[in-house]
Amino acid sequence: MIAYKRILLKLSGESLMGERQYGIDENRLAQYASQIKEVADMGVQVAIVIGGGNIFRGLSGASKGFDRVKGDQMGMLATVINSLALSSALEAVGAQPRVLTAVRMEPIGEFYSKQKALESLKAGEIVIFSAGTGCPYFTTDTGSSLRAIEIEADVMLKGTRVDGIYTADPEKDPSATKFTEITYDEIYNRNLKVMDLTATTMCKENNMPIYVFDMDTPGNLKKVLEGQQIGTLVKK
Ligand code: UDP
Repeated sequence: MIAYKRILLKLSGESLMGERQYGIDENRLAQYASQIKEVADMGVQVAIVIGGGNIFRGLSGASKGFDRVKGDQMGMLATVINSLALSSALEAVGAQPRVLTAVRMEPIGEFYSKQKALESLKAGEIVIFSAGTGCPYFTTDTGSSLRAIEIEADVMLKGTRVDGIYTADPEKDPSATKFTEITYDEIYNRNLKVMDLTATTMCKENNMPIYVFDMDTPGNLKKVLEGQQIGTLVKK
């Protein structure tokens, strides 16, 4: 039994750093690739959005004097670098990835269309959506919400280093407790930092459930697809 037939997996760029301060940790990348291959082998249709925070974020660039739009474009290019790295790691474990870009940049990746994405997913390929939405002032969380809704995914899985959503940041407040389920409205009301508001609102308005879980423990992605309750489900 598979809990979700088609998933959109969001991975943050920062998590690719592993123990490093910057860039890509090959071990973390390989660990993600084998977890992803494992669920693709179960027959799950897997699409992925990856962030770029391990390389560049437009907002932090702007605070150092960069033009915000150019900074965001640099951030989007950072997501392309990560997408190519993940695509290469997926090939290394025997999976068939296809990189689609929100901005034209053949031959690095093909220009995104829903049709191409669905063709690949139905053929058992793993689709990586890169360059976010292609527009500045957005994040890859919003890019993932958008793509999850477009490709009619059953769920958006947000793989993080924390095992779900807590009443407060568990890394700062040891008394924080974890939710098994939470509504979109509770996220706003409690001011929880799960995703940015644009991304959360897109999911809410289009009834896209979000599942937050710890992706850094090998085997966890498979557990989520098997229906094990290891994280937090966000729904209406
Ligand atoms: N970005 C953007 N538009 C998008 C997606 C991303 O401008 O649709 C830029 C933005 O500057 C962002 C950076 O790309 O800071 C990297 O993405 P993000 O911060 O979401 O990465 P993550 O935090 O997941 O590593």
